[in-house]
Amino acid sequence: MNKMSIIVPCYNEEEMIELFYKELKKVLSTINVDYEIIFIDDGSTDNTLKLIKQKRKEDNKVRFISFSRNFGKESAMYAGLKNANGDYIAIMDADLQDPPKLLEKMYNILLTKEYDCVATKRKTRRGEPIFRSFFAKMFYKIINKMSKTEIVDGARDFRLMTRQMLNSILELTEYNRFSKGIFSWVGFRTKWLEYDNIQRAAGKTKWSFWKLLMYSIDGIIAFSTVPLMLSTLIGLLFCFIAFLMIIFIIVRTCIFGDPVSGWPSLVCVILFVGGIQLFCLGIMSQYISKQYMEIKNRPIYIIRETEKDE
Ligand code: UDP
Ligand code: MG
Repeated sequence: MNKMSIIVPCYNEEEMIELFYKELKKVLSTINVDYEIIFIDDGSTDNTLKLIKQKRKEDNKVRFISFSRNFGKESAMYAGLKNANGDYIAIMDADLQDPPKLLEKMYNILLTKEYDCVATKRKTRRGEPIFRSFFAKMFYKIINKMSKTEIVDGARDFRLMTRQMLNSILELTEYNRFSKGIFSWVGFRTKWLEYDNIQRAAGKTKWSFWKLLMYSIDGIIAFSTVPLMLSTLIGLLFCFIAFLMIIFIIVRTCIFGDPVSGWPSLVCVILFVGGIQLFCLGIMSQYISKQYMEIKNRPIYIIRETEKDE
């Protein structure tokens, strides 16, 4: 019999564990498949781990990995993927924004062998703050212009994939992980399912606007080198403009002499060019800092305890 691994990253989800577990269990009992549920406790500071351990006691299909501190959802997903034993591997959020009942449909699609992965995306961003939707849309536009890897707008992390695809993903051991890009980069055939945006069942979102903004910049840096190219082009453009201006000034001086005036415009130009230089330097330092973190080769997560320690 096939085995399905369900990976659930949890960060301060004490209100959700019970609800989520019940809902998932109900769905899994209707699918003809063996399974394991792997909760990843991403350094929660509330009772999440305690509740997960309790579930583990009642049900040996529940496994868990608990981090030594909060490493972020990307690290949690990676830990789950690395430790999954199933033939089919699913990732889903603990807040029931990813409807467990889709799992059956996803599994049946993979069984046809026509696809290697079934992924999900939201039909609309209804129920999301307008400000956030606007920036999210901008982000997808920009990253898809800049990167050859397609990043699907509205894609969620909720997906089911085959062992073969998972093994390829595990070969990408980079420290700066941007899963939406990694899933797409490894290729394979992906079937997209759409569903309406569902509100979180309980608790609140762990992503502030600032955290999302930083995450989106990381995504662009991880999957595109176009910003570096851009800074080169801006540099060239300014050299060209400067060249034209030099010629213009020489010619004008020859014809009209040199009446001293126009230092305010000079200050503006200096400020403007200085700003552009700092901006380009900033782009470059983004890449250098990412390289720095890669070279350090630090672990992506640190485990404090798992079900094997019991
Ligand atoms: N999460 C995590 N580590 C973090 C932040 C979030 O493991 O540092 C988990 C969280 O517990 C949830 C999932 O990632 O299961 C999605 O988070 P959330 O629902 O807060 O994000 P949103 O749906 O609002 O984008
Ligand atoms: Mg959520």
